[in-house]
Amino acid sequence: MRDISVFSVTENYAVNVFDDDAMRKYLPGDTYKQLRKTINEGRNLDPAISDAVANGMKSWALDKGATHFTHWFQPLTGYTAEKHDSFINPQKDGTVIMSFSGKELVRGEADASSFPSGGMRATFEARGYTAWDCTSPAFVKDGTLCIPTCFCSFNGDILDKKTPLLRSMEALSREAVRILRCFGDKEAKRVISMSGAEQEYFLISRELFSRRHDLMLCGRTLFGARPPKGQELYDHYYGSIKENVSEYMRQVDKELWSLGVPSKTEHNEVAPAQHELAPVFNTSNIACDNNQLIMETLKKVALRNDMVCLLHEKPFAGVNGSGKHNNWSLNIDGARNLLKQGKTPESNAQFLLFLSAFIWAVDDYADLLRMTIASPGNDHRLGGHEAPPCIVSVFLGDLLTDILHEIETGGESNFREGGSLKIGLSSMPTLPQDVSDRNRTSPMAYTGNKFEFRMLGSSMSIADCNTVINLMMCDVLSKIADRLEKCSDINAEVRDIIKDIMREHKRVIFNGNNYSREWVEEAERRGLPNITNSVDAFDAAIAEKNIALFERFGVLTERELKARYGIYHDNYVNTLNIEALTMIEMSKRQILPAIISYTNFLSSSLNSLKETGLALDVSLQAGMLKDVTAAGVQFRANLSKLEKLVDKVKCESFESIKARSVFYRDKIVPAMEALRETADRLENLLGDKNWPIPTYTDLMFGE
Ligand code: ADP
Ligand code: MG
Repeated sequence: MRDISVFSVTENYAVNVFDDDAMRKYLPGDTYKQLRKTINEGRNLDPAISDAVANGMKSWALDKGATHFTHWFQPLTGYTAEKHDSFINPQKDGTVIMSFSGKELVRGEADASSFPSGGMRATFEARGYTAWDCTSPAFVKDGTLCIPTCFCSFNGDILDKKTPLLRSMEALSREAVRILRCFGDKEAKRVISMSGAEQEYFLISRELFSRRHDLMLCGRTLFGARPPKGQELYDHYYGSIKENVSEYMRQVDKELWSLGVPSKTEHNEVAPAQHELAPVFNTSNIACDNNQLIMETLKKVALRNDMVCLLHEKPFAGVNGSGKHNNWSLNIDGARNLLKQGKTPESNAQFLLFLSAFIWAVDDYADLLRMTIASPGNDHRLGGHEAPPCIVSVFLGDLLTDILHEIETGGESNFREGGSLKIGLSSMPTLPQDVSDRNRTSPMAYTGNKFEFRMLGSSMSIADCNTVINLMMCDVLSKIADRLEKCSDINAEVRDIIKDIMREHKRVIFNGNNYSREWVEEAERRGLPNITNSVDAFDAAIAEKNIALFERFGVLTERELKARYGIYHDNYVNTLNIEALTMIEMSKRQILPAIISYTNFLSSSLNSLKETGLALDVSLQAGMLKDVTAAGVQFRANLSKLEKLVDKVKCESFESIKARSVFYRDKIVPAMEALRETADRLENLLGDKNWPIPTYTDLMFGE
């Protein structure tokens, strides 16, 4: 069974990636050198070498058994897309040769009309283009050479999630390098944002999955009474991994490793049947590709093992949802992490400066961060009754907060003597050796060398949030660089900048329990936004200050942002509409018939007891019949309410895109909740044998 035992990880790692080794082997020397330079500098491929690169890549792919190639891109659906073309090129003599040109490598043409464009693509011009992002390596997956690409419309409007991310990385690098120059660093070439995304997911039986239309169509259960046991015993978290799950994880690892995705940590999560996978972090664009491959592989390998992997953020009501944690840091030329305290006085001053910059950025752009994680699925995880609040605050830990507070108030620098690092600048305090702390409830926690953004839903692409983190930092770093470039005493200026940041933005620092009611009140007093639902969160996409941010750094235009805003709302409405229709279908085709047959069963039992002529006590049957009938009547009334609303929304004309979403949020969602409540009551009344859909206990605790 466990072919992993004979599998050499080191020999097979990245075997399916056109990495440096493969390039060296398959490309002519000069071409290799030029391509390497292009990749290192993050530039576009020189057309003069594209044929040679394509040819080498093709030979490599054919050796890996590939027959097709595809431009692999990340449209605004949040998933990946691929259109396969074979390498075959028929010859006059009836044979074929395998060919792949530089043109095909560099640029592809895709039909943009079937991807969301938010109205930017005129219907008569359906063409879209994909262009190779050579900073992310090509790979062979399922017999197809995949070339990571960016995607835009015929007019050049950006239609994907990758392009803004790459642009934000470039812009951030420019601004961060400006600051390093002020510190006298003449060497640093690039400052790169690094990301590592921890991925949570549920695994359930494929057989049970196929008996639930809600899971099949919506990825989450729309009905389901709470099981007697949930996660209250915490016996699943880090628990020993079941054999079939552990076999599954090994297969996932093997597949990911061959694709060069450094899957590292796996464990059971808090909820029953919930697990987590974390890779080793990488540059944000590659981390983004990696996360897409992780999600795809988790799903694919599950099916092979007769299981289904659920990536929905809240598959089961009343049970912990699945999130994704995006760990983010800044790295100078692949060497030093700017978010880690350093060994020299300068590096520690830089560390405190970048740390404070982050606080400023979060405070200014909390609404935008909140927007990047808004989705109907995530609404069940955030802000609801079972979920942490939507207030974006930063956890620094007491030590760092105290240090920054000292700088703010001009206190002397004798902070925590024992084990501390002198940073030498007279105006700066010393830094203790371990400044990290633990807080599991913070949405944005500093964890010693990175910020961990924990609000993402499990199914989301990490592109949007990394784009925004990079951009908000760009804005703040550029303002800081403006000051530093003008100052005469860098040490005094750095201290003053930190002072100013603390004075104006410390309200966003919160080290306490984010899940407490007191925090919601406290945050309100501090004037921090608490945007409790996606519909309101989308507003940030078109807020003037945010459009200005995107335009200033050349990442997205106002038109592109407005299009995205439209897509967010469409996605919100479409998702809820599918859920409502699925509920209606399940209610009519499964639940109502089950109620009828159960009442038939009860009444015939009642009648047959009566027919015995023994004057038996029939109150059990009569009572149950009464209860089921009453609940059934209510269920049917709730069903018809939901149906009416869904019909109404089809004919209604709304004054704005948002108004339509508001109707779904305020009218349709409550109607769905009411229908579910009666259904879940009926589930308990009807009992296992008579309920037509697998229960929560089956789904989460079954073998
Ligand atoms: P946790 O305590 O949240 O499980 P870990 O230390 O296991 O944290 O790391 C979680 C994720 O953070 C991993 O994917 C890891 O690769 C990533 N990570 C670690 N260091 C960095 C860094 N400097 N920048 C970005 N991501 C990082
Ligand atoms: Mg984590």
